Amino acid sequence: MACSTCERVIPDHLSVCPYCGRPQDPITQNKRTLTVFAVLTALLAAAFVLQALVGSN
Ligand SMILES: [Zn+2]
Repeated sequence: MACSTCERVIPDHLSVCPYCGRPQDPITQNKRTLTVFAVLTALLAAAFVLQALVGSN
């Protein structure tokens, strides 16, 4: 990932940037994961509804 302060690329597992020493905010990554999770959940829900509609015929 890129440091949020100096924008240098640093390993994802580092919680502090080795170049500028600024702590990295893990919330940004969590938000991305949550977004992916929300999309997957919505797709699953849509598939479930479609299946129920087809099954009712
Ligand atoms: Zn930095």
